[in-house]
Amino acid sequence: MNAPLIDPFARAIRYLRVSVTDRCDFRCTYCMAEHMTFLPKAELLTLEELDRLCTAFVHMGVEKLRITGGEPLVRKGIMTFFRAMSRHLDSGALKELTLTTNGSQLARFAQELVDCGIRRINVSLDTLDPAKFAEITRWGRLPQVLDGIEAAKAAGLRVKINAVALKGFNEDELFPLVDWCAREGHDLTFIEVMPMGDLGGEDRLSQYWALTDLRARLAERFTLTDLAERTGGPARYVRLEETGQKIGFITPLTHNFCESCNRVRLTCTGELYMCLGQEDMADLRAPLRASPDDAGLEQAIRAAIARKPKGHDFDYSRQAIAGQMTRHMSHTGG
Ligand code: SAM
Repeated sequence: MNAPLIDPFARAIRYLRVSVTDRCDFRCTYCMAEHMTFLPKAELLTLEELDRLCTAFVHMGVEKLRITGGEPLVRKGIMTFFRAMSRHLDSGALKELTLTTNGSQLARFAQELVDCGIRRINVSLDTLDPAKFAEITRWGRLPQVLDGIEAAKAAGLRVKINAVALKGFNEDELFPLVDWCAREGHDLTFIEVMPMGDLGGEDRLSQYWALTDLRARLAERFTLTDLAERTGGPARYVRLEETGQKIGFITPLTHNFCESCNRVRLTCTGELYMCLGQEDMADLRAPLRASPDDAGLEQAIRAAIARKPKGHDFDYSRQAIAGQMTRHMSHTGG
């Protein structure tokens, strides 16, 4: 174990989100354009390079790895990577290996994920209506995702559903979603929509559904108790007293959560972003490819963490954040 990663504000970096691909089998309207140009293969980190990078972070104290995309489960050979990462769970260095997925490939991979030591997953699902699902994801089919979630549950994975709150789209599904999650035993988190994807000006504004409003509507039917639990990220949780359910709210644009921030994000091309709300990043692919020895890489990671800003405030333009999110294809809840 090398010296831990501590940033200039005495925050230990324990959480790394890794985007393993920019590709996805869905085209959610708020996330991607229908016709995307994806990165050439040479730009992408290979699975071996992803392993080296993640391992370097684990050796410097990262305890939680979240794999995301694009859609992580469409990356060819991705199970080899999960299997490789499971060695860090076995050694005790890594406390949690997890992923955020659209669920389309879960029927195929759920059992293997469990075998790799994964215990909990986040599945993104905004609606339980097949027609609306096809509309919002463009290419997705609801039954395939529901089968995937079922397979995950059957394999023993704990599932958290992440739903993007979209005004005029799934507003009327607030209670059906909550009830379905209660019945199925899934946790549920709502994500505030961020301005990206194909939603142009007017649409974008009209789809914004403030989570304060969503929360107020929940409170009309349930007794909400705020939970102290924080993950170092932009999620806050409440318990619905009547059902015992835990509901999360991810509000990257309207909440300040920086003081407890313990995370950094790596893109599939090896760019490390130190803050969700700022554009600064460090290229780790060059030092990674420069030498088979990890000394230069470790130095580059430490130099990047030394630049982690204290935080971002509400002044950052939504566009700047959206730019970063698009490149990551990963999200806070995500
Ligand atoms: N493909 C995987 C999935 O669907 O979960 C992982 C990547 S996806 C980009 C991660 C999360 O970001 C999903 O929950 C998705 O709904 C969310 N997301 C994408 N675009 C968003 C936006 N404009 N605003 C809020 N959340 C968004």
